[in-house]
Amino acid sequence: MPSEPPEPLVADHALEFPGGYTRSVGPVIGRFLTELRDGRLVGVRTASGGVLFPPAEYDADGEAVTDEYVEVGPGGTVTSWSWVSRPRAVHPLDRPFAWALIRPDGADTALLHALDVGTFEPGADPPKSLRTGMRVRPRFRAERTGSIRDIECFRPDVTMITAPSRAEYRLNAGWALTRFLDGVSEGRLLGHRCDVCGKVYVPMRGLCPVDGVPTTEEVEVAGTGTVTTFAVNNIPDPRAPQVPFVSAYILLDGSDISLLALVAGIDADRVRMGMRVKAAWKPREEWGRTMENIKWFEPTGEPDVPFDDIKEYL
Ligand SMILES: [Zn+2]
Repeated sequence: MPSEPPEPLVADHALEFPGGYTRSVGPVIGRFLTELRDGRLVGVRTASGGVLFPPAEYDADGEAVTDEYVEVGPGGTVTSWSWVSRPRAVHPLDRPFAWALIRPDGADTALLHALDVGTFEPGADPPKSLRTGMRVRPRFRAERTGSIRDIECFRPDVTMITAPSRAEYRLNAGWALTRFLDGVSEGRLLGHRCDVCGKVYVPMRGLCPVDGVPTTEEVEVAGTGTVTTFAVNNIPDPRAPQVPFVSAYILLDGSDISLLALVAGIDADRVRMGMRVKAAWKPREEWGRTMENIKWFEPTGEPDVPFDDIKEYL
């Protein structure tokens, strides 16, 4: 009768070095880690003249390297990356990050390290700014021991800031524009006629830009005019009645220069060059010394002005 096979003997063991397994790193890795501890990145010159980083005793072709060490970086370029949206306990960062190959400036090869792009939400997608070619720098730990973990991670270069912004200024209208706005506050559109060329400028500026002479002869022009050019705008503007709206250069009858204003009372796609318009004033009790007394210009319904009659004013 066959006997039962003997129960195999089993014993559980663990090989562990609680204080760490100490080994010699050799002169090349040793130099790399020593420089890291001092906050520097060094590579080693290869026999073919390149810079191997991180340094090793032999290059990719199996050639022994030289004994010339070369400081590289600290700035570098991401050559490849892989996104970790949900880091595990063993990972170097506790928020989403990228494993990246980073080639420091001056090196011909890259180091694999963690890249912190400032994303905190677990499971987040990589930011659009993360891409091959991104410029990065190492963040060294304050306390360094001569280990690859002396670099806590790499971080993108600062390329933009957001800062509170506020500008206070006073606009001095000058006497000519002040006089124009006085006119507008009474429902009148005033300009100046140049003594030399005879052109009428509305609003007046107190001089003729063509002849360079002062102007003083005051002229009142009509609230009617002709659209010379225009633009259809699709971004909301608090002054416009709706989107899309039209802003146009309008040549007031009697003036020789166009002024910029809104056009309303017509669909944006029906506004055209040569269209006749008139000022739509706000109710008189709302008037002030401001061009906002005119809400916008509206079509008059008159026939369009031929292009030849307005082409000098575009
Ligand atoms: Zn002139």
